[in-house]
Amino acid sequence: MAEMKIIRGGRLVDIDAHAAPPTDILIRGDEILEVGAPGLAAPPEAEEIDATGQLMHAGLVNGHTHGHGNLAKGMGDRWSLELLLTAAPWISGGRELEDKRLTTTIGAVEMLLKGCTAAYDLTFEFPSPSREGMAASAEAYAEAGMRCVLAPMVADISFFEAIPGLMDELPPQLQQAVGAMRMAPAETTLSAIADVVENWGADADLVRPAVAPTIPHHCTDGFLAGCRDIAHAHGIGLHSHVAESKVQAIASRRLYGKTLLAHMDDMGLVGSDFVVAHGVWLDDADMERLAAKGGHVSHNAGSNALLGSGIADARRMLELGVNLAIGTDGANCSDNQNMYEAMRAALYMSHVRGPDTGRWLSTSEILRAATEGGAKALGLEKIGRVAPGYKADIVFLDLGHVNWIPFNDPVNQIVQTEDGTGVRHVMVGGEMVVRDRAPLRVDMAALARQAEAARARLEAANAERKALFEKLAPVVSSYCPGLAAQPYHIHRYAAH
Ligand SMILES: [Zn+2]
Repeated sequence: MAEMKIIRGGRLVDIDAHAAPPTDILIRGDEILEVGAPGLAAPPEAEEIDATGQLMHAGLVNGHTHGHGNLAKGMGDRWSLELLLTAAPWISGGRELEDKRLTTTIGAVEMLLKGCTAAYDLTFEFPSPSREGMAASAEAYAEAGMRCVLAPMVADISFFEAIPGLMDELPPQLQQAVGAMRMAPAETTLSAIADVVENWGADADLVRPAVAPTIPHHCTDGFLAGCRDIAHAHGIGLHSHVAESKVQAIASRRLYGKTLLAHMDDMGLVGSDFVVAHGVWLDDADMERLAAKGGHVSHNAGSNALLGSGIADARRMLELGVNLAIGTDGANCSDNQNMYEAMRAALYMSHVRGPDTGRWLSTSEILRAATEGGAKALGLEKIGRVAPGYKADIVFLDLGHVNWIPFNDPVNQIVQTEDGTGVRHVMVGGEMVVRDRAPLRVDMAALARQAEAARARLEAANAERKALFEKLAPVVSSYCPGLAAQPYHIHRYAAH
């Protein structure tokens, strides 16, 4: 018989009521069996967990991150998305198998320490994904004790080929250098993805595969169709950066004569298993198409602000029926893996869109997006709520922490005040994986030593790629803003 646990003495967040009544939680194995008033009956053998002075909420779900980004945190300043993509061979290059595990573990442990128990991770291997590399990333999540939908992030067109006119701006020598960094051909990458998915060795309850054609116009149509077919054949998710930057929106109009979302939908990629990352430049018709198919947006407001991509209209997405998740994006483009900060960024960015407070996202809408919305986007129906039948993924906030002195409103304070420092324990599937602010399955001192060794080795290994970035950056940082200076109207049906 599965192990029983009873959590007593804590208070459980009720998002709709903005309340946190005293609540006991009975757990069997990895699932919540019952949620009730203090004194809830439990079998005598149930292990008692004392949650006195603690506020419990469902584990946060990160709708969009990149495991490979965690070794590259803080490597850039004043980078647009296009400069970040130019920097990718330098900041994500030269990785060995152990680096792929290490970078993923760093992100997993950061997310857990900051109250996030599941993530959609688009992870990158150059020039194409590998069974071993994906297994190393999957094991990193499983060992840290975190849930993940793990997608190889793939393309068959390089950044410089994907932006109309950009290659022509480069002198011949740089064209040659960039040409030497091509992605693997479509057939190679598609068969590598199929190999990864068909030989999935990870505990599927914790870590599941998906497919991430990274940016639609960085993929040929044949390649997109190949990704679609693999995902549909295996019943797994698709995730793509759609209409993240204005450069992409303008490129799409030139390349396809329609929006990126329309192109993907016309190719049959958009469905209930499809996640749009960012969606800053989606128009109303895009959002309606997405909503009609049951699709999702991971709203990554911090990343959109940092990279200058714009302010996504999350209110319009909700109005038109799109499921909203909240994402941090990678540590190489929004600096940390803190879902409390990602929620607050989503809140602030909805406010700065305009003075009509009725159009701002509310704290309850945001907390719901960061839990239930994220769970839907990941395709994991049994997470995102603390309720009978759901997985026991629970965050315990310390009400004695200064963030909670005084305790006025649990939902407002989680979104507006909490910054992750109030997280005391984190439970995933009924097991504590963080206790008293320390991860139980990851040796932090060893992690820091390994990371420093990797950092030094990668710095040396990527010196030439860094030098190339420094030559390319001036071209990209003058050409792309010029392209983006063109007028681009986001079509809305009516003023709002
Ligand atoms: Zn991303």
